[in-house]
Amino acid sequence: MTTGPTQGGSILDHIGNTPLLRLTRVGGMGDGVPDGVEVHAKAEHLNPSGSVKDRAALGMTLEGLRSGAMAPGKMILDATSGNTGIAYAMIGAALGYPVTICLPSNASPERKRILRIHGCEVIDTDPLSGTDGAQKEARRLVAQSPDRYFYPDQYNNPANWRAHFDHTGVEIWEQTGGRVTHFIAGLGTSGTFIGTARRLKEYDARIRCISMQPDMPLHGLEGMKHMASAVVPGIYDASVADEEVVVGSHEAQDMARRLAREEGLLVGVSAGANVYAAVRLARTLPPGSVVVTILCDTGSRYLSEQFWTGDVR
Ligand code: PMP
Repeated sequence: MTTGPTQGGSILDHIGNTPLLRLTRVGGMGDGVPDGVEVHAKAEHLNPSGSVKDRAALGMTLEGLRSGAMAPGKMILDATSGNTGIAYAMIGAALGYPVTICLPSNASPERKRILRIHGCEVIDTDPLSGTDGAQKEARRLVAQSPDRYFYPDQYNNPANWRAHFDHTGVEIWEQTGGRVTHFIAGLGTSGTFIGTARRLKEYDARIRCISMQPDMPLHGLEGMKHMASAVVPGIYDASVADEEVVVGSHEAQDMARRLAREEGLLVGVSAGANVYAAVRLARTLPPGSVVVTILCDTGSRYLSEQFWTGDVR
């Protein structure tokens, strides 16, 4: 991650430093948000591979190279719901390292194609066991050939949340001029929420940090974990959240459609869930409140999904 736009350099120099967007149509007075309450969204879908996971994948790869866990001749291997895999695939291609990704077989066809186009090996895992099954398969492969792979293990690697502590949280603080009062974001590995919230609380312990989860186990919110029914990531720390909220998939899908039509933002369903939760919170807040959330990934990764038209769910 660099300190600003550069001439030349590699695509990896353009990870991070994403814009913070003020939402006006969605999250304005028409949505019941009081005058003087602002809703902002961090445009993580504008990272080079199209998601917030560029930050974590780069952070974990650089930490692996620093510690010696990753070295030329090794292959990057991890389990993901898609976005981290695409980020590794981009990073591996840019640095000249091969990448293998364990991915539930029901991940969207767009994701698998992008991975393969980057030259990545894709291992399909049991769709019913989600990313928990993908992790199991990754661990099995690493146990078989430990010297062959660099296994960042994003669910248990502190370099995941550290990328957001060192960058995302700092950027949000600076982009709001220290005015942020609430941070709300969904949990996948939990790296985005934990790292950003820890940093914001370091700046000002009064900033309320709210974690969001899908409202049920089989939810269709790709990338998000329903903690009560999933294997809880090792990096997750429930004590970081001042409050926990849930969002349903229909609300998230409706909001993703609204963001495309009313804000010009083609983003995925977890971004829809984040903005839905941010607007619902903003309605309850006093003037002067500044709510920040995350646009996790690009909507172009979900073009084959039926919900965009609004009439098929
Ligand atoms: N949204 C999407 C679409 C994702 O792929 C992820 C990562 N699994 C997240 C949100 C959550 O990010 P994190 O892993 O940092 O909690």
